[in-house]
Amino acid sequence: MEETEFIWMDGKLVKWKDAKIHVLTHTLHYGAGVFEGIRFYKTDKGPAVFRLKEHIDRMYKSADCIKMKIPFSKEDFIKAVIETVKKNKIDAGYIRPICFFGYGKMGLNPEGAPVNCSIAVWPWGKYLGEDAVKVKTSGYIRLHPKSTHADAKITGHYVNSILASIEAKDAGYNEALLLNAEGYIEEGPGENFYIVKDGKIITPPLGNILPGITRKSVMQIAKDEGIEVIEKNIKLKDVYNADEAFFTGTAAEVSAIESVDDKKIGKKAPGPITTKLRDLFMEIVHGKNKKYESWLSYC
Ligand code: PMP
Repeated sequence: MEETEFIWMDGKLVKWKDAKIHVLTHTLHYGAGVFEGIRFYKTDKGPAVFRLKEHIDRMYKSADCIKMKIPFSKEDFIKAVIETVKKNKIDAGYIRPICFFGYGKMGLNPEGAPVNCSIAVWPWGKYLGEDAVKVKTSGYIRLHPKSTHADAKITGHYVNSILASIEAKDAGYNEALLLNAEGYIEEGPGENFYIVKDGKIITPPLGNILPGITRKSVMQIAKDEGIEVIEKNIKLKDVYNADEAFFTGTAAEVSAIESVDDKKIGKKAPGPITTKLRDLFMEIVHGKNKKYESWLSYC
């Protein structure tokens, strides 16, 4: 990981090496924290954060799910993100805001524990690589919606994603794909999932997946391009018979899928619709498409 100079902690910028917490931090033990992954891109007008407001809104929504009161207003949090990007003087990278129950209280109920917040930024290249990825369906099922708020970005949820990732990587694949208990596709460990069939995009419905901000953006772009997007349950056989498949996510951006469980998807990945969406998305995030200018916050 490439270090930058400053990390924002509870309202102040501190040196990267000084951004430390106590070992009895509540969230470290029990996994009740909320976080975001955001990217900022180099543009002709300086670094621009992609859909910053939507990410901060989602983080506050996740915090509500665990009854965490973030001790900053959303507006101040947004300002702090911009300030952290500016002070670190890098053109492009990843932003990691996190809010967690801090030191001072043990036991499962976090009520009474302080809430601490931080924002780090660092350069981060392609997450799933340049080429189309090889995917393996996971033996682990995605979090059950009756076990937790499965659509919130809560730190502890990521054990499920980590297990699926380790399993897929150990078996020689680039990424995992998680199903639910009924056998329908949900999402990747850190990405939303799509297939393309007969010119239409099909993606699992909201509910038990993270409502991805890239998902919302790519669906909007597709609709604006006249490509129909259908949200419905997908079975594995639909995936194997698809013309194209791809992932979206802040880290993964738009990533083509070459195969699932060694079954090649379509003729050649990336297929035409994936390519079109990926190219448009990359143009937009780099500030080269006026129509979507409102999605960028310049620093
Ligand atoms: N699903 C999961 C489980 C994720 O962690 C992510 C990454 N935040 C996504 C989907 C994609 O969401 P977004 O496009 O907002 O990054």
